[in-house]
Amino acid sequence: MSVASIGEVVWVIGIVAWYVVRYPFERRARRVRVTSSRRSPTDTAGLAAALFGMSIVPAFYVATGFPKFADYPAHAWVVGLGALVFVMGLWTFRRTHKELGRNWSISLEIREKHQLISSGLYAVVRHPMYTSFLLMAVGQMLLLSNWVVGLAGILGFALLFFLRVGKEERLMLEFFGPEYRAYMDRTKRIIPYLY
Ligand code: SAH
Repeated sequence: MSVASIGEVVWVIGIVAWYVVRYPFERRARRVRVTSSRRSPTDTAGLAAALFGMSIVPAFYVATGFPKFADYPAHAWVVGLGALVFVMGLWTFRRTHKELGRNWSISLEIREKHQLISSGLYAVVRHPMYTSFLLMAVGQMLLLSNWVVGLAGILGFALLFFLRVGKEERLMLEFFGPEYRAYMDRTKRIIPYLY
């Protein structure tokens, strides 16, 4: 098996694992009432961009090899690093779901008895689930040796993140007021100590 195919297999296993982690939360979320929703066309566009760049483009590439012109040689150490980064992303993704619990939403929503989570990973950064998406986008870029597919993942993540994060923080400020303000003052967004 070539190094490039090993990268592809790892990505496929990773994306299946992603859904195995997410599915039970999607089911449970249906039973928790939403009291205030900020779903918007912009947010849906961001979600669609992430879905496109982080699953449809790479899945199509793995299935068909398209776009071949953008392939570059796969190196074992790059693919190995990609596997490590993707696994770190998955681990972070799972932890954030456990920590957010019933407060999780796929979009921007306040749920009945919504609680502000600020411990665990949420004590380190205030959007650790988006940190996990960034890790998985970087992992995808390293696992799949193709410029288009690598950039699609980063771009998908960037669109989801930048179309959403300002609105999400405004929603949290509106709902939690000074408590969220203080939480913002002591945490970075997605990269500890940096951003
Ligand atoms: N941005 C967070 C959460 C993503 S899930 C992260 O990256 O980990 C999106 C939902 O989580 C939104 O409906 C938002 O209202 C809610 N949310 C965001 N931060 C939260 C927090 N610290 N505690 C509780 N809910 C939060």
